Amino acid sequence: MKYISTRGAIEPVGFETAVMEGMARDGGLFLPDEFPNVSKFLPEWRKLSYQQLAFEVMKHFVDIPYDVVQKIITESLSRFSHPEICPLKKVGGLFILELFHGPTLAFKDVALQFLARLFEYFLEKRKTTMNIVVATSGDTGGAAVEAIRGLKGINLFVLYPYGRISPDQERQMTTAVEGNINPLAIEGSFDDCQSIVKNLFADIEFRDSYRLGAVNSINFARLLAQTVYYFYAAFKAMAISGAERCLFSVPTGNFGDIFAGYIAKLMGLPVEKLVLATNENDILDRFFKTGIYRRGEVRQTISPSMDIQIASNFERYLFLRMNKDGNKVAHLMEQFAKDGVIQIELSADSYVDDCIVSEKCTEAECLNMIADFYHKYGYILDPHTAVGVKAAEQHKHSKYPIIALATAHPAKFPDAIKAAIGDNVQVSHPTIETLRSRIQKKLVLAADTEKVKNVIIERAGKGN
Ligand SMILES: *Cc1c(COP(=O)(O)O)cnc(C)c1O
Repeated sequence: MKYISTRGAIEPVGFETAVMEGMARDGGLFLPDEFPNVSKFLPEWRKLSYQQLAFEVMKHFVDIPYDVVQKIITESLSRFSHPEICPLKKVGGLFILELFHGPTLAFKDVALQFLARLFEYFLEKRKTTMNIVVATSGDTGGAAVEAIRGLKGINLFVLYPYGRISPDQERQMTTAVEGNINPLAIEGSFDDCQSIVKNLFADIEFRDSYRLGAVNSINFARLLAQTVYYFYAAFKAMAISGAERCLFSVPTGNFGDIFAGYIAKLMGLPVEKLVLATNENDILDRFFKTGIYRRGEVRQTISPSMDIQIASNFERYLFLRMNKDGNKVAHLMEQFAKDGVIQIELSADSYVDDCIVSEKCTEAECLNMIADFYHKYGYILDPHTAVGVKAAEQHKHSKYPIIALATAHPAKFPDAIKAAIGDNVQVSHPTIETLRSRIQKKLVLAADTEKVKNVIIERAGKGN
């Protein structure tokens, strides 16, 4: 399988290059030139374990020996505490797909555990090393630390806004004892961290000589790992309810997770609808209702991992929507960067997409949803999951089962749970408790690209 760029200005590349480069050199994102249709395998796949299913899905996309793929999958799933990896629970007429049984209690572990091991394999093969630099406002940083600590050939530099993330989130990044993890507490905002990372990548000489790499959600391998649980959950929900199709409700920020579901549908999984759920940062909700993609101000909410106004994976959707016309996409993205708005033509029935429907959830609705679900069913939703469940509730009339993706464990967001339900419920998780007694290490730095650069130079060495 070959990978092409959404801006159409590079020669197709293999899986290895797509993973190692992360972003195409023409500024676009990688996508397979064609998605395999797996419809004929579905009856067989229903019987597989999560690990077996992951291999069957992924083998269509990778160019590495099958025994290596199997080993990478097994290892990357070995850190999940539930025997089923991502168990499906029926709660009050909905299916809840629990994606938070990994080491940092958020669904990002599914993708990052896999991606980190791919890096390790390719680096060993190429006999080189890599320095990953990532800016984070919370979940991604912790998941990257957990995935990369102790791996050979990889150093991780994780930049976070000092004093602006929760103490538990900070501990997830600062308590690793392995020498390849470098938490950098930046005296500034998340945007400052993000712009330092952008500056580092824009300095081509520095980027090449220190072999900088990225783990943000533009990497296609992350989507691939997430596609697996759509198949897994659909088979289970359809078997339990005797249905031929199903719906998914997905709390969305960067359009990554839901795009993985879109891929599953393109591959032939009978997905009736994908319900896209946003918090008050509703650029995607507005787009799927009107066809107009217009940037807004970022608002802080109680579901912070979705406080995003520019969804990086949206470009992939746009590319498929524009019949893979890279020129058109490049033009639209340029226009968006300049004007902050683009518009696409709607079909006669005026739907933006006949598979994707969207819902927005306000802060008050989110809190109510958490309280409601707890009082009715005794099940505590984290605030991101609650956004998706609220949207799912609006599609309960469907004759097909609906699966809501639970993207984080509630113990990661105790303040929101307290605000919704009150003091009488305690959410906790041993993973988070354990970190509280560990020693933290971090380097506090001014929000200055040169200072960060010097740390990388000092700690990374030039490798070979
Ligand atoms: C990252 C994240 C999301 C949003 O996922 P996208 O792939 O960016 O749409 C939702 N919930 C949680 C808990 C997250 O960490």
